[in-house]
Amino acid sequence: MIELKNVTKVYKMGNELIYALKNINLKIKEGEFVSIMGPSGSGKSTLLNIIGCLDRPTEGEVYIDKIKTNDLDDDELTKIRRDKIGFVFQQFNLIPLLTALENVELPLIFKYKNSMSEAERKRRALECLKMAELDEKFANHKPNQLSGGQQQRVAIARAIVNDPKIILADEPTGALDSKTGRKIMELLKKLNGYGKTIVVVTHDINVSKYGDRIIYIKDGSIEREENVS
Ligand code: ADP
Ligand code: ADP
Repeated sequence: MIELKNVTKVYKMGNELIYALKNINLKIKEGEFVSIMGPSGSGKSTLLNIIGCLDRPTEGEVYIDKIKTNDLDDDELTKIRRDKIGFVFQQFNLIPLLTALENVELPLIFKYKNSMSEAERKRRALECLKMAELDEKFANHKPNQLSGGQQQRVAIARAIVNDPKIILADEPTGALDSKTGRKIMELLKKLNGYGKTIVVVTHDINVSKYGDRIIYIKDGSIEREENVS
């Protein structure tokens, strides 16, 4: 499903080169739930951004669903991202002026433009809010009228509305208290049970344990891996 071969990412800061990732080799199978653990600055976000086709490696190869993404142009990368990947972020990244339901509808608008009716769009968005276990009574609330946990549920509904095979989550519990964080991780686990491949980046050992496999990253390199039983 996801494969990285000898991936290196170098950032240039003036005259200084920052090796954010060094020679990463990684395979994630369809239906796996993988946690990427490491301290701040170890390269986790960079790794997730490369898997998510938001960024390109300096060296090495990236395969998503058997497609080698290195050779693709920006439009083709955008299409892979839109069709195959859902993103969840620490700060939810919802649009404040739109309601919960409208936020979830957005990816459908980008993908289908006017070829999907508004009624069908609303039906699908509501279905995803339901799957994300947000009570229907909040569908017309704006993000600032929702708790952090509720906002993350909206963000997860938005991530799944195009039915992607892969969900990538960057510190999905980072802005939540630990009880709410656990509920959000249980929701990701449920989606994994429905067949989604899930990759979660975290610096929190308790969060990482929801994965079937934990990959420890340090200074841009994979330090070790651990299977969670
Ligand atoms: P983490 O997510 O584990 O905190 P990051 O992937 O954000 O780590 O960062 C890895 C390293 O790369 C850090 O040293 C960070 O400062 C650097 N870095 C990340 N993004 C950029 C960028 N756009 N430009 C320059 N340096 C960056
Ligand atoms: P995280 O909370 O995941 O560790 P950061 O706060 O390190 O993320 O980085 C947030 C964003 O800023 C990322 O998109 C990363 O690529 C970028 N970034 C991180 N470090 C630098 C840097 N030194 N210079 C420029 N951009 C950076």
